[in-house]
Amino acid sequence: MKVWITLFMLWMTMPCFTQPVSIDFDALQQSKPWSATEQWEPEPARVTPGVNTSPPSDAVVLFDGKDLMAWHTPKYDYGTRMDQVVSIIEWKETHPEFSDPQWLIKDGQLIVNPGTGAIETKQSFGSVQLHIEWLAPVDPGKESQGYSNSGIFFMGLYEIQILNSYENRTYSNGQAGAMYKQFMPLVNASRPPGEWQSYDIIFMAPSFDKDGDLKQPAYVTAFQNGILIQNHVELRGPCIFIGEPSYFKHADKLPLLLQDHGDRVRYRNIWIREL
Ligand code: MG
Repeated sequence: MKVWITLFMLWMTMPCFTQPVSIDFDALQQSKPWSATEQWEPEPARVTPGVNTSPPSDAVVLFDGKDLMAWHTPKYDYGTRMDQVVSIIEWKETHPEFSDPQWLIKDGQLIVNPGTGAIETKQSFGSVQLHIEWLAPVDPGKESQGYSNSGIFFMGLYEIQILNSYENRTYSNGQAGAMYKQFMPLVNASRPPGEWQSYDIIFMAPSFDKDGDLKQPAYVTAFQNGILIQNHVELRGPCIFIGEPSYFKHADKLPLLLQDHGDRVRYRNIWIREL
């Protein structure tokens, strides 16, 4: 009897295995319940992909090796401290003063011309997908932040760093692929100086309510040479050199800016898609 009770108790504690649910599709042909979860409208816009990294059909081409028609040089470029950042954006809104960019074009490459200032797109952008290729020239003797420094400023405010970060140590949140002084890259995906590299970046612009309060912060996802280096990071405000960042209300769309940091960094194949 004891054995039977033990076996019974064991059976009671055994997991209950039943057959997987089977679906009789022939029986459902009349009602077709699968159609209830099919979305037909709207249909995604048709975009023709580029060949390799050439621009897809709906991209705004910012530089294709020929000219700087899409760019100009603003009288004031970017701020290094919050009070300066705010004043420059306000100044630009009320005093739009620009000159022709003095950066050089050689062999289809755009080269920073040190001392001539940043260049900025004539068109303003909010949330975007950006493709850009860049090269840090070989420059023996240079080091840290001084070795091929430039930068891509989304909306003229939010910088992803351009720097030679191949065997060139600097502060981690200031190396190539860093959202400057806010997020170091997840890994160092840098190629040696003298080699072309790419960034593919999704920048989601911040938004503000009518009182000027932050509604949604800016987010960045970025790949360097095909490797994920920023994974949906939430920015704390503009990327600044001095002090703590904080948000301030600005326009929904502002120009993209490339930094002149005194080094002859080269760019090519720059295209952008509005999101
Ligand atoms: Mg920089």
